[in-house]
Amino acid sequence: TASIIDGKAVAATLRSQVAEGVATFQAQTGRAPGLAVVLVGEDAASSVYVRSKGKATVAAGMISVEHRLPADAEQAALMALVAALNADPAIDGILVQLPLPSHMDAQAVISAIDPNKDVDGFHPANAGRLATGLPALVPCTPLGCLMLLRSVHPSLSGLDAVVVGRSNIVGKPMAQLLLGESCTVTIAHSRTRDLPARLRAADIVVAAVGIPQMIQGDWIKPGATVIDVGINRTAAGLVGDVDFAGAVEVAGAITPVPGGVGPMTIACLLRNTLEAACRRDGVAFPL
Ligand code: NAD
Repeated sequence: TASIIDGKAVAATLRSQVAEGVATFQAQTGRAPGLAVVLVGEDAASSVYVRSKGKATVAAGMISVEHRLPADAEQAALMALVAALNADPAIDGILVQLPLPSHMDAQAVISAIDPNKDVDGFHPANAGRLATGLPALVPCTPLGCLMLLRSVHPSLSGLDAVVVGRSNIVGKPMAQLLLGESCTVTIAHSRTRDLPARLRAADIVVAAVGIPQMIQGDWIKPGATVIDVGINRTAAGLVGDVDFAGAVEVAGAITPVPGGVGPMTIACLLRNTLEAACRRDGVAFPL
């Protein structure tokens, strides 16, 4: 059976490294990095994410600022808030929690964030920099997935990777990161033909689909490493996009849900905030 990749432990290590980096940053600059999180509306899952992001930010020694707008706020109000945060010298990172209410243009909001403060890495400038191999703020979830993969494979060079899902938030940046590690990358999605056959050839599987337990154990190549990004709330509780019970029998290593990718996402948000602060103040980023 597969070894279980302990995302909580890897994330705890990263968080303590960030906290050390924050202390050094503060000694060098006389200030703590600041992260602003913006929540529009009352979405229950988003509220939970925003609260835990704020707590983790403070625990790392950084300043956490939370802005809430009502669900019926006008786009112009959100744009004005983003502009104010762009101009605020105490703020190094700006995160607008998605999804936004349907009357808002999420892409316009993302594009209004200063790319140097875009700690989610969703701004087109950061996506382009990642795709070009330039230094970029990298989306937190795929960055966390890469760190988990590196904890299993010191080198990923030449491995066959299949990323299931092509979202701008997870699938596409994940594929770019794996390409950067010299994997041979396939991006599968809802129109892909014969997904099981493609997965059976993969040394690395990253599942970011949003369909509970879609990926079956007998689609996994024996010994493969499986990273399950999915967070699906079902009657049976929280499950991933991979049928864990089946896949754990076949894979070489696999992330659990919960306790795999999830904890890495927040830890990488803290890492990105420290990175953005270091770049803004011209001090060395220690991680
Ligand atoms: P999304 O809905 O934007 O994208 C889903 C992707 O899956 C699409 O590209 C689509 O083409 C593909 N897809 C749909 N049906 C498919 C099928 N039958 N076969 C193959 N591909 C198919 O979702 P997302 O934002 O990328 O998130 C994916 C999952 O990851 C969700 O469960 C989400 O909750 C979870 N997530 C977790 C974290 C975390 O921190 N762990 C962060 C972000 C997202």
